[in-house]
Amino acid sequence: MTHLTPTHPGLAAYACDPAHSRGRRHAEPEAPTRSAFQRDRDRIVHSTAFRRLVYKTQVFLNHEGDLFRTRLTHSLEVAQLGRSMARALGLNEDLVEAIALAHDLGHTPFGHAGQDALNECMAEHGGFEHNLQSLRVVDELEERYPAFNGLNLSFETREGILKHCSRRNAERLNAGEPKGVAQRFLDNTRPSLEAQLCNLADEIAYNAHDIDDGVRSGLLSLSQLQALELVERYRHQTVREYPALQGRRLLYETIRRMLSDQVYDVIDATRLAIAQHGVHSLEVVRAAPALVCFSTPMREQSHELKRFLFANLYRHPQVMQTTEQARDVVRDLFEAYVRSPHEMQADFARRADTHRAVADYIAGMTDRFAVREHERLTGRQVLA
Ligand code: MG
Repeated sequence: MTHLTPTHPGLAAYACDPAHSRGRRHAEPEAPTRSAFQRDRDRIVHSTAFRRLVYKTQVFLNHEGDLFRTRLTHSLEVAQLGRSMARALGLNEDLVEAIALAHDLGHTPFGHAGQDALNECMAEHGGFEHNLQSLRVVDELEERYPAFNGLNLSFETREGILKHCSRRNAERLNAGEPKGVAQRFLDNTRPSLEAQLCNLADEIAYNAHDIDDGVRSGLLSLSQLQALELVERYRHQTVREYPALQGRRLLYETIRRMLSDQVYDVIDATRLAIAQHGVHSLEVVRAAPALVCFSTPMREQSHELKRFLFANLYRHPQVMQTTEQARDVVRDLFEAYVRSPHEMQADFARRADTHRAVADYIAGMTDRFAVREHERLTGRQVLA
């Protein structure tokens, strides 16, 4: 494999080449006009789980406002950032786009509050991890093809979707798919650069859009954000060029400059890491340490921003209050369906593994469907 010439112009020797994909779990003829990864992306866009992302919470619950990010717009922003970095690095843009659009498919309603609550409910039944659930959605839960469950995506796309995985789950996955997508968690090797890039694009996207949504919601102020070196640098630059600029436009221009600089920083730092490790093939990528990275100063500033958002936005009393209610909704739904599985859609109700069926059913819900179901089953109106 080491010295294969990439079949796509502009694709570096260390990029994933669809012509040398490790393939799909169920053999299918190749598409006449699309590469394997383009086809994966198309399957993801047409999936049911993808359409549900529009009504799933990122940070702010769906009903709190029409302009906040949802999982769908977040995923589109990750794809945009990822593709633009991929192009500059000679990586496979189609693969990056497919992974980015699928990376949050397994998220529960109500964001992390929903995921934590479901994980607690499933503590005695194998737990719940949203990355693993994203893989489950594309491998098992989508029902769109006559001959197999799931979307039958390429190995490389599935590998990128399974961003984290506990050792216990990796062992379980590996038993069903020896040397498959979970192998790297057991032998501590790295995924493709495209997968690594999506991880970082995810972080860059949510740090930036959570500032925007935080200010829009009134929970954060620009003056509060000035305490952050990363934000203040670009705000200062902007004000120097446009002294009269205020309010939203000042905020947007500050975020825009921050995003651009982070993208250029990743491209430069990653090029350097690739050169330093003498990376010339995908095999070397897998054996090397993680190569897609920020420079050291940018990484530290990005962590500072993350800590700030955690303390001031994700832990804001107003966010915490809705978070608590969201946890209750998920717990109540879980109990109700375990007690009466027939309250679920028939194909979930029929399954023998009741707890996992309930977790899959709840994880697939949009915020508003979960709220409606909660009201139907408990008679109580929460988060309406
Ligand atoms: Mg994400």
